[in-house]
Amino acid sequence: MSNTKHVAVVGATGAVGVEMLRCLEQRNFPVGQLTLLASARSAGKTMKFKGEDVTVKELTPDAFAGVDIALFSAGGGISKEFAPHATKAGAIVVDNSSAFRMDDEVPLVVPEINAADLKNLPKGIAANPNCTTAITLMALYPLHQAFGVKRVFASSYQAVSGTGAQAIEELEAQIRDWASADRKWDDVRLAADKVKVYPHQIAFNALPHVDSFLDSGYTKEEMKMENEGRKIMHHPGFRASVTCVRVPVFRAHSVAVSAEFERPVTVAEARAVLAKAPGLDVVDDPTLKQYPLALDVAGKDNCAVGRLRLDCALDNGLAFWIAGDQLLKGAALNAVQIAECL
Ligand code: NAP
Repeated sequence: MSNTKHVAVVGATGAVGVEMLRCLEQRNFPVGQLTLLASARSAGKTMKFKGEDVTVKELTPDAFAGVDIALFSAGGGISKEFAPHATKAGAIVVDNSSAFRMDDEVPLVVPEINAADLKNLPKGIAANPNCTTAITLMALYPLHQAFGVKRVFASSYQAVSGTGAQAIEELEAQIRDWASADRKWDDVRLAADKVKVYPHQIAFNALPHVDSFLDSGYTKEEMKMENEGRKIMHHPGFRASVTCVRVPVFRAHSVAVSAEFERPVTVAEARAVLAKAPGLDVVDDPTLKQYPLALDVAGKDNCAVGRLRLDCALDNGLAFWIAGDQLLKGAALNAVQIAECL
């Protein structure tokens, strides 16, 4: 491979794809040639990269000729079908979907935690973790190194951009619909035809339903923290009971976490550990009303952690609140960081 790379972005027109282009540009990734791929719907559109128009092409099996690195974010089905075409053509795939995350032959990587796992790429594929998991681990892993995490109880507050471009449009449209009719606070239920992406209205609401339900009563999304957390942290005994909630926030996920550790923990020790953790800001002065906010981390590379306190219901327990831009650390930024490591 030469010093510059031929990079392909699959799903370039999506919520994550757009951020991929921004990350590649802002981080000055050595892009020699850029191929933008999406569905036939988008073929022929142009997108800007470093001030130049790049034309989007339709994703086809032969779209990867000469590509060095293919960043996939077009859904699990597309990854399963097309990643093999990309690797066969000689490209390394960094996949954002859940298609390969739990495959033993595919490293699942948050570069600040387990970049070393990228040394082994038997399938030529590296996977990007679930967004809520990646953001939570940015604080949990350094705490684990210091105190040995046993289990967590967590609730997420997930932004609509985590579902993609159509969900962003749906929340926007619902808010406009309500506001344009000059309705009052106690008249917020919208017509059924305004609800398409989610099973219920998302504006002015909180949906305890992210991804599909399993026989256990948890959703698939809720189990990702335990399953992916074990793999990323190399910690097979890690346990996580999670409730994932979709909230009417456009951008950035927040997670309330109660973690139980093997060893005693103090707030001062935890704060010192987190202050040194890469990719993480400690924002924790409740007396000054300072704590991580979705609005503040939106568009930022770093996650933010705060509301640190001893958990009053757990032994060796610490409660905290973490927020991060899931389009960045939960997706595009993490994928580009993986590509940089590769
Ligand atoms: P999105 O906004 O709905 O974008 C989907 C992208 O996939 C679009 O570029 C779309 O192209 C393309 N696509 C759809 N069907 C296709 C097909 N048949 N052939 C080729 N391209 C096709 O979704 P997103 O939020 O960006 O998510 C993309 C992936 O990233 C998903 O696997 C998701 O689970 C994962 N992910 C997302 C986030 C997040 O915060 N959003 C975080 C972590 C992981 P068109 O524009 O032509 O339809």
